[in-house]
Amino acid sequence: MEFNFKSNSPYSYMKYDGYMGQYTKNKEYYIVPKLENSFGIRNMYDIFGKIESALVDLLNMGRICMEPNVDEHTKFVCALMFVEQYGLLGFMVDAPENPNFLLSDEIILKDNNYVSKCKEIRPEKYFELFFPFATGNEMSYTVTKGQVVIKSNSDLQNMMKQTTINNQLIYSSFYCEKLDWIIDYAKDMYSIFKKFNDLLHNNLVGDDIDEARKVVNSYVCSGVPYKINIYGNNPEINWKPGCLKQALDMAFGFMICNDKNPIKICKHCGKVFYAKNPKAEYDTTQCRNQANVYKSRNKNKDEK
Ligand SMILES: [Zn+2]
Repeated sequence: MEFNFKSNSPYSYMKYDGYMGQYTKNKEYYIVPKLENSFGIRNMYDIFGKIESALVDLLNMGRICMEPNVDEHTKFVCALMFVEQYGLLGFMVDAPENPNFLLSDEIILKDNNYVSKCKEIRPEKYFELFFPFATGNEMSYTVTKGQVVIKSNSDLQNMMKQTTINNQLIYSSFYCEKLDWIIDYAKDMYSIFKKFNDLLHNNLVGDDIDEARKVVNSYVCSGVPYKINIYGNNPEINWKPGCLKQALDMAFGFMICNDKNPIKICKHCGKVFYAKNPKAEYDTTQCRNQANVYKSRNKNKDEK
């Protein structure tokens, strides 16, 4: 099966030119858009054009952050590099069970939501979680006649009025995400992928097999909406993920359950990579050459 992902428009995802880390008064560390230049500050791009590299980068972020003794600075640099490339993940629209979450009296959150341990949360509290640095004039919302309206004194914000409420939220220049949410998500995805990869290559024995199956089987992606486009005789599925995280979750399932297993772990350095050639075992020629050197050294040792 080939991946023929189509998004709702070729320019459906937004990211800012730069991001930075910022502490709240309660010492919570967030990644926020950096608004240095007023020109060309916000870019739109088609996530499905780079979904393979986005997924590989996410998994490698998880891999690095799972190493023992990894420090906070390394985690920050990993997340920043990812976000500068692809934008924030959009946890705000992914975590609630209901897509029109700001209209509910209590927002019900998915079980593995990353943003809160609570199962239910008041909409005002939930809003604050993602806009901790914005003043009421900069970013607030009202509900009028069953409709959410975003209020802002920022021109950059008001330029998005034509788009959906969810996009006005997660692509806002005031929207930000905690470093820990991003890292935890990347780590979870890598652990699942690593277990999956071990099962696939028979790297496990005994109880570890059951344990690994349990981890992989517990993964749930709660569904990405799609529509069908048929213009000529070729129907196409037009996927409509609500945010970057949903696009990654969707691609993850399709790619790891693909016969060709395009997402692999380098046999020499352990990095996750996307293999165009299904037989590839190493991410770079350097890794392949080095592995061959070790192999022949070991062979020589055996012969002595
Ligand atoms: Zn390698």
